[in-house]
Amino acid sequence: MHISSDCEKMPAMNTQNGPDSHALNILQGIFGYETFRPQQQEIVDHLIDSGDALVLMPTGGGKSLCYQIPSIVRTGVGIIISPLIALMQDQVNTLRQNGVRAAFLNSTLGHEEVRAVEMKLHHDELDLLYVAPERLMMPRMLDLLDHIPVSLFAIDEAHCVSQWGHDFRPEYVQLSVLHERFPQIPRIALTATADGTTRREIIQRLALSGARQFISGFDRPNIRYRISENIGNAREQLLGFIRNEHPGDAGIVYCLSRKRVDDVAAWLTSRELTALPYHAGLSAQVRQRNQERFLREEGVIIVATIAFGMGIDKPDVRFVAHLNLPKSLEAYYQETGRAGRDGQPANAWMMYGLQDVITLKQMQANSIAPEEIKRIERHKLDAMLGLCELTTCRRQALLRYLGDELTEPCGNCDTCLEPPETWDATAAAQKALSCVHRTGQRFGVTYLVDVLLGKVNERINRFGHDKVSTYGIGSELNQGEWRNLYRQLIARGLLAVDLEGYGGLRLTEESRPVLRGEQPLHLRRFSRKARAKSRERKASRYAETGKSKLWQALRSRRQQLADQQGVPAYIIFHDATLAEMVENCPETLAQMSNISGIGERKLADYGETFLDVLNEYRNLEGKTQGDSEEETLHLFRLGMDADAIAVKRGLKATTIYNHLAKGIERDEVSLSKVVPMQQQKLEAIRFAIEQFDGGKRLKPVFDALEGEFSYEVLRCVRADMSH
Ligand code: ADP
Ligand code: ZN
Repeated sequence: MHISSDCEKMPAMNTQNGPDSHALNILQGIFGYETFRPQQQEIVDHLIDSGDALVLMPTGGGKSLCYQIPSIVRTGVGIIISPLIALMQDQVNTLRQNGVRAAFLNSTLGHEEVRAVEMKLHHDELDLLYVAPERLMMPRMLDLLDHIPVSLFAIDEAHCVSQWGHDFRPEYVQLSVLHERFPQIPRIALTATADGTTRREIIQRLALSGARQFISGFDRPNIRYRISENIGNAREQLLGFIRNEHPGDAGIVYCLSRKRVDDVAAWLTSRELTALPYHAGLSAQVRQRNQERFLREEGVIIVATIAFGMGIDKPDVRFVAHLNLPKSLEAYYQETGRAGRDGQPANAWMMYGLQDVITLKQMQANSIAPEEIKRIERHKLDAMLGLCELTTCRRQALLRYLGDELTEPCGNCDTCLEPPETWDATAAAQKALSCVHRTGQRFGVTYLVDVLLGKVNERINRFGHDKVSTYGIGSELNQGEWRNLYRQLIARGLLAVDLEGYGGLRLTEESRPVLRGEQPLHLRRFSRKARAKSRERKASRYAETGKSKLWQALRSRRQQLADQQGVPAYIIFHDATLAEMVENCPETLAQMSNISGIGERKLADYGETFLDVLNEYRNLEGKTQGDSEEETLHLFRLGMDADAIAVKRGLKATTIYNHLAKGIERDEVSLSKVVPMQQQKLEAIRFAIEQFDGGKRLKPVFDALEGEFSYEVLRCVRADMSH
């Protein structure tokens, strides 16, 4: 293999089987993909060329191929180090489906199985081996690697080496040994984690200072971000969202507390959805079982606390819903990022309301963390709230926060799709703020709104707040609108929440310029229930189109195959691949092989059976009107009457009469055979039809004849008159 120490140099292209063409052949032949994604080609070439690499690519960006293809091209086995033991089986299954020789070594294997893998290594029978870091570091394993050809080391989830993030794994720090012990073998470290501190730690701890860096942006363009206001019916809104936009899809619903997880899962289940809870209060067994079902079955919804997600590599999660506000934008990005790894359209849907803001602010205020940490947390929460209240493109703001830039509004978030209206809320905000002031800065939103609206109640009387100047001055807004306004004022830091946990509000420094009228305030207009409903968009595939039958048929064939092999459905084919089948309807194996995601092996294994499904569908569709009519006429000539034909064909009598009317029109059957009747009656019908414009519309004819003859009979007579 060509070896170059110059990282920037293009790979050798002089031989016919240069790395470049070979890699592309593998991409197309084995993985069934037409072209490399941005960066992939360069990374693959760089590794084939023996260079070290640090790859930062968002989730779903296609990191796996970056080491899988070089592992196949280069001599020897590629060693993939991953902390996510639960995923190894899936990754290996996926590769084997494509005919790649892959295996894994981790603590879930018994002695015999380990021996079998080691034998394969000795006999050079593997292209890729996935190992857990602690297993790799065992002297026995390192010795073994001394004696066999190794094509590369890939360190997946490389951010686990950093103490800065929260996924720190002590075993990862030892991976620097690889560099010392196997200096000639290229290494590639991969992560989706964004920040600069983590990146610097990866480089330092893994001794990757000489590695070329491949940094992609963080954008996940296929995810549609939507955040809306919780006006007290979040559960119903969620149900509506799932039913309208994601019937039969897999998704994750995040809630803040275990109790809420249980409630929401039970509620969705009672509404005929498959929704399973997942949180730390459930036994390990139950969690395992629910996770397993989420991975293997179609259309399972997991309702979870944030404990769920790390190590979930399911590519076809179509939506992530938040019923509570995440603590930071990093958390929001990470959690929503679990949707749409396959690059297909996906929804990140969130509801948030006044109570979320208050709860999170209180939790923070009461935290016992040191002040500097609390300050960072406050800052993070404020950024999250800022995203919620935003009236401009959400993606731009999110990416800017993550240190990435999007020059144009994205066109795929709610604020881009339906720009929110804003209003000059200065005067109303002044009323709301001074009501806080007048009542002594210790009451919660509900009470304050009652005062503004001039409600008569015992508490207000007792405190004498029916005498304050803000009593009853707020009739221009209703209760919900005032609550919304208070939420926005808290979110913007003009009001602070008390420490005692009763939700009392007090003014902050930031509120002064607004109170003094020095600073105008423009806020997002209140969302109206109806508006939220009417704008629901279909993100779901073929939810109501004629193609949905084919889509369902392809999915159930995929499920059958997956069940037979005990693997998740996406390991057979991704949604994207099935979607392309629906669009292109291939008729031959050759056409099938052009579909993205179908390599040689999958074509051989599954091509025929999916062609069968497509052909069946084509036959059904292809049975056009004409064919169906022919069949009716055929049966009629055989002597069956209309009703008997309807029964035999499982069609409505009306449909059969329509077929027969067509036959009469073409003079292929006679009217008297289809509807035998007295001449006199026939004349009456003919007369009526002539009276009413040749019976263009049959209703007046029907009425004129006082309903004595059915529409079917009228239609046949009209057909006879058209000769
Ligand atoms: P990551 O590890 O970066 O989250 P994956 O490697 O799992 O992402 O890839 C995400 C999805 O994109 C997978 O379904 C993969 O098959 C698909 N994919 C990767 N590269 C390509 C490509 N060049 N063309 C089409 N699909 C691709
Ligand atoms: Zn946008």
